[in-house]
This record gives sequence, C-alpha cells and structure tokens, in this order.
Amino acid sequence: MCGIVGSINHQNIVPALLNSLANIEYRGYDSAGISVLTSQGITTLKRSGKLEQLRSLLHRKQLTGLIGIGHTRWATHGEPNECNAHPHTNDQVSVVHNGIIENHSKLRQWLLAEGFTFHTQTDTEVIPHLIAYYLARGYHPGQSLNAALFHLKGCFALAVLFNDDSEHLYAARRGSPLVLGVGEENVSLGSGAMALNSSDNRILYLEEGDQACISLDNIKLVDKTGRAVQRKLQFNELQPGQCRKQQHRFYMHQEIH
Ligand code: GLU
Repeated sequence: MCGIVGSINHQNIVPALLNSLANIEYRGYDSAGISVLTSQGITTLKRSGKLEQLRSLLHRKQLTGLIGIGHTRWATHGEPNECNAHPHTNDQVSVVHNGIIENHSKLRQWLLAEGFTFHTQTDTEVIPHLIAYYLARGYHPGQSLNAALFHLKGCFALAVLFNDDSEHLYAARRGSPLVLGVGEENVSLGSGAMALNSSDNRILYLEEGDQACISLDNIKLVDKTGRAVQRKLQFNELQPGQCRKQQHRFYMHQEIH
C-alpha cells in the first residue's frame, strides 16, 4: 500500500514532505516523488527505489516551495519504474493517487481522442488529463476536480496541485483513507495519521466520498452529495515517526517490538 502526502506552509515545505514520506516508508513502496509549485510553475521530481534516491535528487536540485504534494508508490498498473512513479503532471495540474481507477482504459481512449498525450502505463494518468479537460472549458480548479471525479470508477485517495492556484491544495477520497493535519503555521494531508509531522498537532479524518479544498486559513469540505460539511478537528495523539524502522533491521522486527 502506498502513501500520499501534501503540505502548505509559509516556509519551504520540501523537508516536511520528505519527512512525511519517511514516516510511511513502513507501508512499502517501489518509487517516490514530489511536486512543488515554484515561480516557474509545478516542478515534479521522482525516483524509483528508496526514498534516499529522491532525497539526494532534491538536495542536488535545491527544490523549494510553499505548497506541494508527494507520493510513495506500490505499482498496480504499469511497471515499478521512474516514469510510472507519481506525481503525474501535465501543463496545468499534478496528481498523487492511492488506489485503483477501474475504468482507466475507457477514459484513456476518450482522452486520446480529445488530443491528450499519455507518457505512462498507469491508471492514474487519466486523472490530471480529466482535470485539464475541464479547466480548458472554463471550470475553476475545485469544479474541474469535481467534474473529473464523476468519471472515475474504483477506489482512490487523491491530492491535487494546480499550476494557477498557489494557495490551495485539493483532495478527495473514495475507498481509501485520507487525513488532514493542522499545525500553527501549516496544513498537511496524508493517507494516514502516521504520515503527519510533529507540527500537525490537530487531525481531521475525511469521511468516505469527501472532497477538500485546503488553504492556510481555511478547510472547505463537501460530502459525497456535494453538501458543505464540517468534520471534527481532534488533537493528534500519535507520536510522529512512530512507525520508523529506527535501530531495527526490518520493519516487521520494529513492529514486533
Ligand atoms: N494505481 C496507481 C499506480 O499503479 C497507484 C498505486 C498506489 O496506490 O501506489 O500507479
């Protein structure tokens, strides 16, 4: 099972994204990547293999930004390689996805006929293209995500970063878990409480079918019927990094202890 993370802050979010990805390494993965919104637009960096490979790439590239998303992948559709690693990005939008899009072949055929180009073998790549399809028709970011979700069959947790929206992260869940973490100066998201960092002292569990539009000073949620809802913000009692391997040789060894 892979993991997704995301963060908005007044400071560089790259260390927080990497830390969150390290917190969920225990879930297993074959590749890792992040997308950050920079002054040049969305920059996506990814690597197959261990998180350490991504960490040194990020160090070399000196990537920084105030809003971004990240992913550790467990391949279900397409080989476990760098090209298929998430995030999947086009000119407008970048997406990380946990789960399976069952009707991806049909959607791919339709989007190819609409002029979109596919670069990966994944089921996920239909999602950024569906969103771009609606952006091109004048939909706002949240509306385009909402319209794209109507096409998807399967299970997913998603986080979405838009090129033209430096203030909001968007997220949705259907069949896969997703939580939001709220700190004094940041808002984060993760596919589980374990993904969050020590600064995320409060936690909010999204419910099945929820969609979120997240900014530093507001979290807007709608439920599966499109109705505005509020979910309880609770104190996060988990210790960050609780699932790290620490001195143990294997994650199973750590878990037994
Ligand atoms: N189905 C997607 C893929 O194969 C996501 C897999 C995952 O949940 O890591 O890329």
